[in-house]
Parts: sequence; C-alpha cells; structure tokens
Amino acid sequence: STRVHWVPLVNAGELRGVVAVFHDISALKRVEKIRRDFVANVSHELRTPVTVIKGYAETLLTGALADDPQRSQHFLTIIDNHASRLSTLIADLLALSELESGDNLLKLESVRLESAVRQSLQLLELKAEEKALVMRCEGLGQVLPVFADRKRLDQVLMNLLDNAIKYSKIGGTVTVSAREVEDQVQIEVRDTGIGIPESDLPRLFERFYRVDEARSRERGGTGLGLSIVKHIVQAHGGSVAVTSTLGEGATFSFTLPTAERLP
Ligand code: ADP
Repeated sequence: STRVHWVPLVNAGELRGVVAVFHDISALKRVEKIRRDFVANVSHELRTPVTVIKGYAETLLTGALADDPQRSQHFLTIIDNHASRLSTLIADLLALSELESGDNLLKLESVRLESAVRQSLQLLELKAEEKALVMRCEGLGQVLPVFADRKRLDQVLMNLLDNAIKYSKIGGTVTVSAREVEDQVQIEVRDTGIGIPESDLPRLFERFYRVDEARSRERGGTGLGLSIVKHIVQAHGGSVAVTSTLGEGATFSFTLPTAERLP
C-alpha cells in the first residue's frame, strides 16, 4: 500500500505546482503486523497455563484438598506441569528477545563438535531411553573444530535433538553427523520420526509456527525452539535447512564456520 504526500513547489513566492510523493508503506505495515501477531501469540500462550493453574488452585482452595487427597495430588500435578510450561515459555521468550536485540555478543572460541554433541546427548539420555531410541553419531571426530559460542551452540543442539526425540516414534533412530563443506562444517540431526508435511517446511523456522498445535503443546513444545536455532546459527554467519518425508522422518542441518585459522 502507498501513502501520498503533496509537496508545493514555490519559486519567488509563487506557487509553481505540486509534486506528489508516494511512500511505499507496505514493508512497514508488514513489520507492524508481525509484531502485533507476536504479542497476540505470546498473550495466548501465557494465558492458557495461567488459566489452568488458577482453575485448579481455586478448586483446591474450596475444599478438595481436605475431602480427597488423591484427587488433590492429581490437581497439584497438573498445576506443576503448567507452571513448568510457563517457565519454559518465558525462558524461550527471553532467549529470543536477547538474540533479537542484537547487542548480545557471541563469545567465539574453537569448539570440538564431538564433545559438545556428547554433552547434549547425555542430558537427553533419559528422554531417549523412555522412547527406546537409538542415538548415533557419525563423523563428529573427523571434522575441524568450529568457531562458535559454546553456550549458544549447546542451545542449538539441545533444541534440535529435543525435537528429534519428541517427534520420534518408539524404537526410532536419531543420528547426529558432521562433514566439512568448503570452509564450513555442516551438522545434521536426522530422525526416523513422524516427519513434516512439505507445505509446512517453508514456515517451520518462524516464531510460534507449529505443524500441529495440539501435538506440539501436548509434547511440551512452545513453537519457539526452531526460531531460536535459526537466530543463533545466523548470528554465527551460518544457515539452517530442513528436509523431510512425511511419516518417515526429518533432517535438520546447520552450518558453522571452522576455527581453522585461529591461532
Ligand atoms: P515446538 O516447541 O513446538 O517443538 P519448534 O520451533 O521447536 O517448536 O518446532 C516447530 C514445529 O516444527 C513443531 O511444532 C513441530 O511441528 C515441527 N518439528 C520440529 N522438529 C521436528 C522433527 N524433528 N520432526 C517432526 N516435526 C518437527
């Protein structure tokens, strides 16, 4: 859309004509809409757990606690789950706003992928065991170290691996691999899970975008993980990509610069 400004052309005190200036405000409007949608999404995401917590807490306060200890225990578990959800959501929002503010400096250092990946895998061991998954590593020891902020890299690995596990079927396989591509290292997280419909792939890295809202929420997702991944990778000068076959699995990959030329 456009906005028109009429500017008078005056010469020696006399009006000679007018010039129409057209401003293209569609880009501005788009940014505004993204911001509005984001605020609406955040409010919605925050309201759901708060409503649940308040509802169950009120029920407990009106006497359920004394009458039926078993039911009370159940209500408290629900309250606890939704409080955890809130806390994850707030942590993700903070991470995202920190990344977007742009004034977060990366503490770049030479990082060996193998040790970073092994550490993330260890933290997710229980979740993987619960679904009887096979977790494999390929080629991690053979690539050059990457030039990365270790804490941010951990965040990327944890988000991708957590998703791979979350959207895996029982007994599936998750593979982390790495290879050198020109002067970068490409890291791949591949799963044999439920996969993603092709039409959803282009929007997957957007904030709050989910293929199936109910499914994501039920599995504890906030819809922010992949946008955080994209931000971090891009801040390192790398890029993210995804391919998938519905029902057969998904492959997420990202690149990072190698730390080859470091002293
Ligand atoms: P969420 O917190 O919902 O997992 P993400 O931003 O991490 O949010 O991911 C966005 C959406 O992408 C998810 O809701 C899910 O539908 C889809 N997704 C992400 N990773 C995978 C995967 N490994 N397999 C299938 N779907 C995935």
